[in-house]
Amino acid sequence: MNARAVAPLARRMALCCRQLAAHGLIAGRDGNLSVRIGRERVLVTPSGYIKSLVTAADMVEVDLTGTPRRAGRRKPTSELDLHLQILRRRGDVHAVVHAHPPIATGFAVAGEEIPGNLLPELIFVVGRVPLVPYGTPGTPELGERVAPYLEGHDALLLANHGAVTMGRSLDEAWIRMESLEHAARIIVAARVIGQPQPLDARAVRRLEALRALARQETDA
Ligand SMILES: [Zn+2]
Repeated sequence: MNARAVAPLARRMALCCRQLAAHGLIAGRDGNLSVRIGRERVLVTPSGYIKSLVTAADMVEVDLTGTPRRAGRRKPTSELDLHLQILRRRGDVHAVVHAHPPIATGFAVAGEEIPGNLLPELIFVVGRVPLVPYGTPGTPELGERVAPYLEGHDALLLANHGAVTMGRSLDEAWIRMESLEHAARIIVAARVIGQPQPLDARAVRRLEALRALARQETDA
């Protein structure tokens, strides 16, 4: 991907950072993004920046080992290892979003998975969301914890920490993060109002089949 093709992606990443902050899915310097821009090249958000203020020019290019491709004052995100673990292991994933969405993270703090049999949108757009055991943020331990859960999942809850979503594009990973939090809000609302009523197993299987079909069609 040449510089002219990378520039709009960097702008989209900056927009995504601002929107995650505006929607309360991150606070201050929280959260980070990565987007694949070549076989060995990845664009990531910078470390230590307030995400509401980050611009396209602040993004940092690294290779799949995490080595910066250009000398500069900006350092890559402190969660670089988490992003690279995912991008190295999942060739189909082109973008990763890590955020701290408050209600979804509430499930992760309570040690509870988000139920996968309540909302069609969650099943179809996000899929099953396993809860990954705690690993210290900003250390390779977090990437190691995540690795066994990558196969077959496009979203993960990180115990006592936050969430990670993946996609074949930044928009897809971003949509999954928003949908995950939206579903978590609805489920909590349902618990406050009364007893959530699960979809029957046949309806869940049908939605899972539609999700698998949609993935195959866009893969082709
Ligand atoms: Zn985090």
